Amino acid sequence: MRVLIIEDDPAIAANLYDFLEARGHVVDAAADGVTGLHLAVAGKFDAIVLDLGLPGMDGVTLCRKLRDEARNDTPVLVLTARDTLEDKLEGFARGADDYLVKPFALKEVEARLAALHKRRLGNVAQRVLAAGELTLDPQTLMIRFHGRDVKLPPKCIRLLETLMAQPRRVYSRSELEAAVWGKEQETSDTLRSHMHVLRRELARAGGYDPIENVHGLGYRLVPRAAD
Ligand code: CA
Repeated sequence: MRVLIIEDDPAIAANLYDFLEARGHVVDAAADGVTGLHLAVAGKFDAIVLDLGLPGMDGVTLCRKLRDEARNDTPVLVLTARDTLEDKLEGFARGADDYLVKPFALKEVEARLAALHKRRLGNVAQRVLAAGELTLDPQTLMIRFHGRDVKLPPKCIRLLETLMAQPRRVYSRSELEAAVWGKEQETSDTLRSHMHVLRRELARAGGYDPIENVHGLGYRLVPRAAD
């Protein structure tokens, strides 16, 4: 997963960062609310760990802005030292998905994040993705391009699904690796070989390759419009 930690306590932030990174996640961190909100909106994270007491902007305000103003639905796990029920309820009302009271076990943080991420993928998986003449049904895994069925290995389907989430957007290699394998890969060969198979099979079905290599940046999907 790609995880953003927004926590001003350096010891807690470092513990979370080191633990999650050692477990293979791609981690970013912010120590104040303003930076945290900026990163949360700008980056594509699978989950956010959010402290409530933060300098600059408190966690409750951050969460409200993320949902109401930025229209961002990244799952948020709130960390709070203020273990009164009212504080927790306030956090939920502002769009937090789950909470943990400090002190917490690091494994518990990871388990909660994984559960939130899975639940979100499940929600996203309800609808058929469409980009021009390309469609992907995440439930049946049926892919159609230019009116023809496309058969792909599972990782290639995940790769295509990621690109289809936002057609025309450029996805960096590390973003694609994190989305498909859960973390960046040691060499670029893994992504390159899966990308090769994906492009070859799409070209075979549709008569052209709808994926563009954006030099130095990554890849994007630019299929023609459906007839
Ligand atoms: Ca704090």
